[in-house]
Amino acid sequence: MYTQFEQKICQTTCPYCGVGCGVDVTVKNDQVVSVAGSETHPANFGKLCVKGSNLAETVGLEGRLLSPVINDQTASWQQATDLVAQQFQSTIKQFGPDSVAFYVSGQILTEDYYVANKLMKGFIGSGNIDTNSRLCMSSAVAGYKRAFGADIVPCSYKDLTHTELLVLVGSNAAWTHPILFQQVEKAKQQNPDLKIVVIDPRRTATAELADLFLPIKAGSDVALFNGLLQFLIEQKQVDNTYIKQHCDNWNEAMQSVADCSLNETAKQCGLEQAELKQFYQYFAQSPSAVTFYSQGVNQSSQGVDKCNAIINCHLATGKIGKLGSGPFSITGQPNAMGGREVGGLANMLAAHMNIENVEHRELVQDFWQSPTMTETAGAKAVDMFDKLKNGDIKAIWIMATNPMVSLPNRNQVEAALKACPFVVVSDCMDSNDTMMYADVKLPATTWSEKDGTVTNSERRISRQRGVVSPPGETKHDWQIICDVAKKMGFASGFDYQHPYQIFKEHAQLSGVKNGVNGYPVRDFDISAFSQITKRQYEQFKPIQWPVNDSYPNGCSQIFSDGRFYTKTGNAQFIAVNAAKAKQQPNNEFPFVLNSGRVRDHWHTMTRTGKSPSLGKHVTEPMLSMHPNDAGKLGLQKNHFVQVTSPQGQVTLLVHLDEGCQLGNVFAPIHWSQMTAASANVANCYSSHVDPISGQPESKFAIVNLKQVTFRQYQQIFSRSTLNVQTEYWVKNVIQYGVEYRCASDEVISDSVTWGKTLTGIEGNWHYFDDAKTGVKTLVCISNGQLEFVSFLSHQRLDINSDWIDSLLSLTELNTAQLSMLLTANVVPEFANGKLICSCFKVGENQIIQAITEQNDDSVEKLGERLKCGTNCGSCKSELKSLLKQHISHQTIAITQIEPETIQ
Ligand code: SF4
Repeated sequence: MYTQFEQKICQTTCPYCGVGCGVDVTVKNDQVVSVAGSETHPANFGKLCVKGSNLAETVGLEGRLLSPVINDQTASWQQATDLVAQQFQSTIKQFGPDSVAFYVSGQILTEDYYVANKLMKGFIGSGNIDTNSRLCMSSAVAGYKRAFGADIVPCSYKDLTHTELLVLVGSNAAWTHPILFQQVEKAKQQNPDLKIVVIDPRRTATAELADLFLPIKAGSDVALFNGLLQFLIEQKQVDNTYIKQHCDNWNEAMQSVADCSLNETAKQCGLEQAELKQFYQYFAQSPSAVTFYSQGVNQSSQGVDKCNAIINCHLATGKIGKLGSGPFSITGQPNAMGGREVGGLANMLAAHMNIENVEHRELVQDFWQSPTMTETAGAKAVDMFDKLKNGDIKAIWIMATNPMVSLPNRNQVEAALKACPFVVVSDCMDSNDTMMYADVKLPATTWSEKDGTVTNSERRISRQRGVVSPPGETKHDWQIICDVAKKMGFASGFDYQHPYQIFKEHAQLSGVKNGVNGYPVRDFDISAFSQITKRQYEQFKPIQWPVNDSYPNGCSQIFSDGRFYTKTGNAQFIAVNAAKAKQQPNNEFPFVLNSGRVRDHWHTMTRTGKSPSLGKHVTEPMLSMHPNDAGKLGLQKNHFVQVTSPQGQVTLLVHLDEGCQLGNVFAPIHWSQMTAASANVANCYSSHVDPISGQPESKFAIVNLKQVTFRQYQQIFSRSTLNVQTEYWVKNVIQYGVEYRCASDEVISDSVTWGKTLTGIEGNWHYFDDAKTGVKTLVCISNGQLEFVSFLSHQRLDINSDWIDSLLSLTELNTAQLSMLLTANVVPEFANGKLICSCFKVGENQIIQAITEQNDDSVEKLGERLKCGTNCGSCKSELKSLLKQHISHQTIAITQIEPETIQ
């Protein structure tokens, strides 16, 4: 309990991306007041991107699930956990352990993950626990295991700033991992010799920093890196000593790329030979190189091979195990790495041990003193939902994830959840697309309440601290799992009172028979924390594993001794051949759909969707496409388009983007049926997965496009949430209410009756039909305050929400304000256009004006005048883009690529 005046600053970790930034949270009266970057955290040194900076806007209790619910009725914890335990027990008794499953999440903490895995694999006796991290980095895991014998990321963030060549593949880091991108930006300023190559089918904000941008044909990454390996061989740029001393299978790898000539590779990748050669020369000549890759590589039916094609090039040149070099997969999630550590993937055991290894199974079972141990891997995410659908799995517990929105082929996922006799969902929110199918809903804590550890992309373990009390009846995920485990008769294995006890057990397990008494060395070892006390856990400082007797202060440089975790101790070259994506464009579906994130949203918007600031950058789900493709289809900016694949369809707003290749389109992943009528892009993806990792092909779907027209378009602002049911709608939270952007064929004849029915408010209604602009405005004032306003037109509208927010904030609307509202006459100070800088609320029109009228010709000058880009820096790439578009090319310093040759 806190006194009214008590204020404290607590250190925790950002809950969004895999950068894992440290956050200082100011808490007053048990409420989060503000957040700032932790100066001392080695991931971010005080910086936060726009998502982290706005965390305080996301912690409200609106929409939270605060009590257990059984069949839509509020229940007690006792009733809910009794029911879950009984249903799981009876299903297991009747159909065996593989008839139940857990589907967990990279958003839960390592301690939650540890007990979930322990319950499923060691006490229930099934491998059926998988995680949404399967969709994020499982190809990277499999690639590392094939090459290094263990799932170990060989790089650290400091490699990014100490390298001479940074190759970003399939990553829009400027938007997805902004703090790392800013560190690279700074390194580039300090060292102009640092070369940056960006490889992506789409020219994104990240490419703004590139010395060389390669617009690769979607899915051709294996061909590109096989071509690089062949080039290195031909140019005698391989490190024969390193290969001989530290690698196996070199001959097989060489043979597999023998036909990958520059000419052939350029054709396969859709690149000019000269630009491809430039990249290859950079890699060959640079003393150090980091290849930074993410979902653009991993989310593919050939994701694992792509990872190994990259790793092969690093091994061949010895660009690994030394500062500034290595293949560096970056996770999208805050704790994907922590999940890997404890065996959160269906094919892994705890502490990076292997299910197929009988000694590992015995070791873990002995350590857990558990009644059983799975002998086989469980079902991976997509397979798990197939088994739900065909009845092999009859009870599932989904924790902190929304598979209806994130798994591919939504119709199949929906059918699976409908078919499953018993669905349990633990979540912090009371409704989402998945919870509609829950028999039991369990209220879980969320960021700022949860207490445990997370591991970021560079193996750094940090504390995510509970800085405020859990609201209502919410419990931590580890507590809920342990309560159910005890009721299933496994009390002795789940008798924890505090997360430090779980972390301690996890640390102890990592050290058991690890490199001692003749036992082989395992990569994951944090045995230095085997005796950690509660106090030490509370004071835990971020540290990179391994942390043991050899590395008491953690370890940033892996593989510096050239020893790997394979049987021979050598790294393995893996011979891989380029293959096409499983579906290829055809006459019926001529476009390739790529998917990804926008700058200010994250995953399914459960958190970012609550922030008015974050909702302003991209206000509607869009389909980005090249203007020439759009022109051929008669599509223009602000048109709507139906995107149809063999699996499903969505309706999106057209966004013209010359960064898209012809024949390729891009859509963001964030919108669900909670936030839009039909924009869940997972609808359009097939269930094709990588055969090794099981990671879905979420960057490549085949689609066709058709314009959709509506008879009327509306923008509605309301103080309270409404039940809008138009054919097209998108919902945005604003500071004083909610905004809906709608479109439909149904024409409203009696506006006031329609408004009253929709809102349920009597109030004073005002209506104005502006014949000049064609905009019909309906306003409701109640007790002097603005309650509701609707703008309706036969064209799409884009009224500035900040203007409406400013009016909603007033206790009374005066006549002049009402008059401006009725005539949709936006106050000039709010006519700033699309928001570019979220921190200082700077719009596109202001920036263009500063460039064209004030002659501001650099990001710095724009920052001096408008402050844009001077706080979190997330918008700098867009500022550069606007500079490029609006000033003459002669006046901008664009890095020219100097041709180089190799003798
Ligand atoms: Fe959070 Fe941004 Fe840091 Fe990612 S880069 S951890 S989203 S503050």
